[in-house]
Amino acid sequence: MKNIRNFCIIAHIDHGKSTLADRFLELTGTITEREMKHGQMLDTMDLEQERGITIKLQPVRMKWKYDGEEYILNLIDTPGHVDFSYEVSRSLAACEGAILIVDATQGIEAQTLANCYMAIEHDLTIIPVLNKIDLPAADVEGRAKEIEDALGIPASDVIAVSAKEGTNAEEVLKRVIERVPPPKIEDGETKALIFDSVYDSYKGVVTYVRLVKGELKRGDKVKLLNTKADVEVLEVGYFKPKYVKADKLECGEVGYVVTGLKDVSEARVGDTIWKSKEVAYEDAQPLPGYKKVTPFVFASIFCAEGDDYPMLRDALEKLSLNDGALSFEPEQSGALGHGFRCGFLGLLHLDIVQERLEREYDLDLVVTAPSVSYKAVMKDGEEVDVESPSGLPDRATIEAVKEPWVKVEILVPKDYTGGVMKLLQDGRGVSKGMQYLSEVRVLVEYEIPLASIVVDFYDKLKSVSSGYASMNYEFLDYRVDDLVKVDMMVAGDIIPPLSMIVHRKDAHSAGSKVAKALKELIPRANFVIPIQAAIGGKIVARETISAFRKDVTAKLYGGDVTRKNKLLKKQKAGKKRMKMVGKVNVPQEAFMAVLKR
Ligand code: GDP
Ligand code: MG
Repeated sequence: MKNIRNFCIIAHIDHGKSTLADRFLELTGTITEREMKHGQMLDTMDLEQERGITIKLQPVRMKWKYDGEEYILNLIDTPGHVDFSYEVSRSLAACEGAILIVDATQGIEAQTLANCYMAIEHDLTIIPVLNKIDLPAADVEGRAKEIEDALGIPASDVIAVSAKEGTNAEEVLKRVIERVPPPKIEDGETKALIFDSVYDSYKGVVTYVRLVKGELKRGDKVKLLNTKADVEVLEVGYFKPKYVKADKLECGEVGYVVTGLKDVSEARVGDTIWKSKEVAYEDAQPLPGYKKVTPFVFASIFCAEGDDYPMLRDALEKLSLNDGALSFEPEQSGALGHGFRCGFLGLLHLDIVQERLEREYDLDLVVTAPSVSYKAVMKDGEEVDVESPSGLPDRATIEAVKEPWVKVEILVPKDYTGGVMKLLQDGRGVSKGMQYLSEVRVLVEYEIPLASIVVDFYDKLKSVSSGYASMNYEFLDYRVDDLVKVDMMVAGDIIPPLSMIVHRKDAHSAGSKVAKALKELIPRANFVIPIQAAIGGKIVARETISAFRKDVTAKLYGGDVTRKNKLLKKQKAGKKRMKMVGKVNVPQEAFMAVLKR
C-alpha cells in the first residue's frame, strides 16, 4: 500500500489555517503559481473570504517526496466554530493526525482546546504549531509552555512557524510524515466514513469520505447504513483541491463519491457507505459516532415584501440542499404574513443562512429574534417540542417546561474572571470549576441554559473581558425550570413573534425592557397605544405611547421645500418597512426588540 498520511488542521479563526495550507500546496506543487495568485485557494465560499473567516477548508490530496519515498498527504479540515462540533468529531474520525495551529501572539483559544481534547480522545497524533513568529508580539516560549500545561504535549515538540513567510512550513510536513501513523489496512467488506457532503449542481450530492475498510469504485451498488438509502456509485476520485476522477478509492484513502442522491440530508455526515459480498446487510455494523444533528436555535424568517414569499421558499430549499442541519417549516403570522420557522445549529449558522439569503438570493428579510427549542411536558407525561415561544401549549394542559442546557468553557486572562463569572451567574449559570492553563489564563467551566447565551452573550463576554475571552459550549440535556411565556401586546393585540419564554424571576424585567424598546420604535398615532407584557392574562409590565398632536413637517419652518420633500420621502420609505398590527403600524426592527432585553 502507498505511503498515506491522513491529517486535519485544528485552529481558531484567524490563527493562520488557510495561510499555512497555502504553503503546503506550494511546497508540494499541488497547485500552480498562477492558481495560487488568486490567494487562499482552499477557502471556498465567497462569504467566508469576505468575512475573513474560514468555516471549513476544501480537502486536498498532496503528493510529496521525502527521504527518497513518495507520500500521499490528505489534508482535511475541522470547522473552527462552536456550532459545528459534531462535524469536527467526524472529520477527526477520518484522520490519524491533527496539526494544531496556535497564533503565537494570542495563545490557544477555548474552542481549539476543546477540539484538541476531542482529537486526543480519538487517538490522533497532535502536531503542535505556533504560527506568526514573524510578529514582534509572538511569545513562542510562553505559548509553548501553555500548550504543554493544557494538553500534555512537550513544549519542545512545538514547531514555531511563520505561515506568511513560509518559515518552517516544510518542517511541519516532515513531522506529519514522521509522527502520524499510516492508516490501518483492512480488507473484506467496504466501509467508508462520510465526513462531509455537499450538493453540486452538476454531480448532485457528493460525499467526502475516508475508506476505513475495503474499496469503492464506479458502478458499485452500496448502502448507507444509517439512513438505509440504496445508492449506486456514479464516480469516485480525490481532491486537488478540485475533483479529480479516479478508478477506485482504496482502504485508507480520502476522496469523494458521487451518489446520484438529490439532497444532502440523504447522505449525512457520519453515515457509513457500505458494501459486502460476505456480510449480510442485516448483520452490517455502521461505523461508530453517527448522530443526526438537531437544531437548537430557532428564528422566523419573513419577507419584507409579501410577494417575495415564493422566492424565499425556493431559496431555503436550495440552501438546504447543501446544509443538512437547516430546517424550515412554513409559518403564518398575522403581523408578518407568510414566512418560515427555521432551525439552526447555533447563532453563526443563523447568521450565515440569513446573509446568504440576502446576498445570493437578493431577498429583503425580517428575521425575528432567535430563541431556543423547548419541550413541554404535558399532563399525560408526553413531551412536545416547542420551536417557538408563541407555540407553547396552554398552561393548564402542561405539567412543566424544559429547556436545553449546555456546558460552557471560557478561556480568559485571570484578571477578567470576576466579570465573566458574574455574566454567567446572571444567566442562571452554575459553576463547575476553574482550571489554570498557565499563570495568567484560566479556563472557567459552567453549566448554563442555552437561552442565556444565544442572544447577545458573546458581545457581553467580549466587553467584560476586553475582547480576550474565547468560549466553547456543548449540549448537555433538557432541564425543567420555572419557565413562563411572556406575551407582548400592542394596542391590545398579542404579537406572537414577540412572545418569549423566560424564567419567572426574569419575566418582569424582560417584559419591561421589550416594552420600552417597542415604545421607542413604534411611531405615534392619533390615538394612545398601550404596550403591555403579560403572563397568561396578567400584565407584568406596561408602557404607553401617547397620541401625537403635531404634523412632523410642521417643525420645518415653512420655506425649505426640498428638505420637506426629503422628510416625506424618508417617511414613505420607512412606511414600506412597517407592518400593520391591528390598527398600529409596527416597524420591522420592533420584531427584533426581544434581542435587547
Ligand atoms: P484562518 O482563519 O485560520 O484561515 O487564518 P488565515 O490563514 O486566513 O489568516 C488570518 C490572518 O492572519 C490573515 O490576515 C493572514 O495574512 C495572517 N497570517 C497568517 N499567518 C501569518 C503569519 O505567519 N504571520 C503574520 N504576520 N500573519 C499571518
Ligand atoms: Mg482563512
